[in-house]
Amino acid sequence: MKSELDDQLCRKYPTLYRDRHGDPKSTAMCWGFDCGNGWFPVIDVLSELLSKHNAEVYASQVKKQFGSLHFYYSGRDKYTDGLVSSAQSLSSMLCEICGSQALIQTKYTGWFTTRCKEHTKDYSDKEYVELDVSKVAYLGFGKAWSALVLILIDSCDWRTEHNGMPATHLSITKEAGKLIVSHSGGDDFTYTIRSLHARFQ
Ligand SMILES: [Zn+2]
Repeated sequence: MKSELDDQLCRKYPTLYRDRHGDPKSTAMCWGFDCGNGWFPVIDVLSELLSKHNAEVYASQVKKQFGSLHFYYSGRDKYTDGLVSSAQSLSSMLCEICGSQALIQTKYTGWFTTRCKEHTKDYSDKEYVELDVSKVAYLGFGKAWSALVLILIDSCDWRTEHNGMPATHLSITKEAGKLIVSHSGGDDFTYTIRSLHARFQ
């Protein structure tokens, strides 16, 4: 990530990134934000929500891994887990270079990267995996909103199935040009990922 954006994050969230220039022996945060500029908005919103929730939370490593944002930190709870997991899902949809809608690209070497069409044209050995939004086609939304909603639904379903979260019923509508998501059931995690998605309409 370019230094202006790196500086901006450190200025806005000094406690969260208190180890940005720390000793490499004790923190990997000293290497900065090891990802492209396209993910800046995701990191910015994630940082804001984490800092507001608990001023004691601090990051130990922020990097791309397997085509998505990986955020390592201290001070976790259910709410922060939800935020970080949701930010990771969102990043996997956004081009790491420019932030446009992405297609995950798999190189034959096994190295994953996340790019839009424009930023994949220089690669030759590639396979694309497009997000299948047909499951939420009934909502009549465009591709980007459909992808957001799909990730939200899948995240909730996954938590219910694997982490014992109470089943969640989501109500998703469009009102006055805005995506409105309300829910019943679930837990802090549902509330968290809903809050994060609301920022990316
Ligand atoms: Zn791009």
